[in-house]
Amino acid sequence: MFPFEGGYMGEKTIFLIDGQSFYASIEKAARPELENRPVAVGDPARESGIILAACPIAKQQGVTTAERVGQARAKCPELVVIRPRMQTYIAISLLITEIFESFTDRVEPYSIDEQFLDVTGAVQSPEELARKIQAQVFLSTGVWCRVGIGPNKVLAKTATDNFAKKNQKGIFTLNESNIAETLWPLPVHRMFMVSTGMTRHFLRMGLTQIGDIARLDQMDFRRRMRREMGRQSDIQADYYWQIACGIDPSPVESGIRKELKSISHGKALRSSLYGELADIQVVLLELVTEVCRRARRRGFMGRVVSVGAVETDGDRAWGFGRQTTLPEPTSLAHEMAKAVLPLFAKHWSGAPVSRLFVSLDSLVEDKVMQLTLFEDRAKAYRRERAIDRIQDRYGSAAILRASSLLEAGVARERAEQIGGHYK
Ligand SMILES: [Mg+2]
Repeated sequence: MFPFEGGYMGEKTIFLIDGQSFYASIEKAARPELENRPVAVGDPARESGIILAACPIAKQQGVTTAERVGQARAKCPELVVIRPRMQTYIAISLLITEIFESFTDRVEPYSIDEQFLDVTGAVQSPEELARKIQAQVFLSTGVWCRVGIGPNKVLAKTATDNFAKKNQKGIFTLNESNIAETLWPLPVHRMFMVSTGMTRHFLRMGLTQIGDIARLDQMDFRRRMRREMGRQSDIQADYYWQIACGIDPSPVESGIRKELKSISHGKALRSSLYGELADIQVVLLELVTEVCRRARRRGFMGRVVSVGAVETDGDRAWGFGRQTTLPEPTSLAHEMAKAVLPLFAKHWSGAPVSRLFVSLDSLVEDKVMQLTLFEDRAKAYRRERAIDRIQDRYGSAAILRASSLLEAGVARERAEQIGGHYK
């Protein structure tokens, strides 16, 4: 019946680790005076702006993520609304990845505040390991993590969302031994990847609990899905049936460390907002900063830099990509920016931009290069590395510098960031 080897769910130990109220927790950790106050992250100057995150105290008072700032304030007049600092959140997310990588080399970021870990074969018990990771992340960042444990990714994610987020210790194990009593009685809309539209289909089919799907024979479920949704629904039927049963053969895929040839980063923009060079440069700087940080983390410098853009007149879109070779390999943002900004300016037609992209290529390992650095560049590297380590965790000068540089960009990007994160 089940086409997989070993236990039908798999025999690995997978964690899905979620940072509680991620942005709000980072802001609260940075401002101890707010410890006992309701805090949310959003644009304090715009009542129609959206709440990106709310701390548990704010949530207790009815504040929810993705509602409007005005609505949240109506429910909770003492709410402290803090402007988001995306660069800082990205930096702390990377720091958390590093902490995870000290426990296993199989770490797969799933979103800014969720990551999968494959800890199969660890010496400690999964729960012990989970507690240790929770303590270490909390100590380093002020973020409280919830850990869902399972024999595969779907069960780990399900364990986090439905159980670990709701219990005191923030840890829950979901597997073959307890799935029938814990997951299957839950309503179908609580199932991973099930939208409201799909929920309606299931309810029309008389399937109200997750177990109603899991207990059906796979072929029987297919037939019922075909009657509800048409003949083309077999793939979806198999997918949902496997999720309900807790089957997921997909591995945790960590970043490709070895054959790294290029490090790139791109971003979609609302072209109506990006017609001015100054605004576009802000985003280019953000992309360059991120690419260089990744290069340093992975131990590379690059000698060729590229910049690309998609331009649009509203009806048509066209693009360009250009590259240039630097006198020496680098992974310093200011050196890369010095090449990228003029390269863009030279080739940009002046039309609104809907997508930007930068990359660093012809990579060499930076260990060798270090030795040849002149003192001023060596100094710049020491400074950037110190920032990378985020020893000054919550307001490292360079991160603040970057975020004030990026203020215009971040403010304009906010709508898209929200979309990107919450869709
Ligand atoms: Mg979270």
